[in-house]
Amino acid sequence: MDYKFIYDEKEYILTEENCEGIFFDEENEVTGLSLDTILSALKEGIDVNFSNEYYAGICSCETQEQINKSYRYLEYHFYVYTKNKEYVLNTLGEEYKSTSFNTLFSLGKIDDSYIVNVTVCPNCGTYSIEVDQCEV
Ligand SMILES: [Zn+2]
Repeated sequence: MDYKFIYDEKEYILTEENCEGIFFDEENEVTGLSLDTILSALKEGIDVNFSNEYYAGICSCETQEQINKSYRYLEYHFYVYTKNKEYVLNTLGEEYKSTSFNTLFSLGKIDDSYIVNVTVCPNCGTYSIEVDQCEV
């Protein structure tokens, strides 16, 4: 599984090889949310657009230019919904188009939501994924 996108005329390919890992909050690991699930979600998504975000930490390639004490990354986020901390669906997929958080919540199919942040180094293309519990 891989996911490709183009930003500033440069192609980025997200695969298992250049992924630094999926990072969860300590007590909030989501079971069933694999890298494959995340890459397929991005692939299925229609309006996936990465944009610039700035962070204090430099990438391990150490080639980013420092801008106001931070470094530029390309970032995109979406949401996943869970039940008993197990992955149920994401907001990019076909399945979500005909429903909403509130509908699924009142049906008892989901009980929590998480934001999935995909952060890519614009220079070397290495990326990491951070998953945090969030309020809807
Ligand atoms: Zn890098």
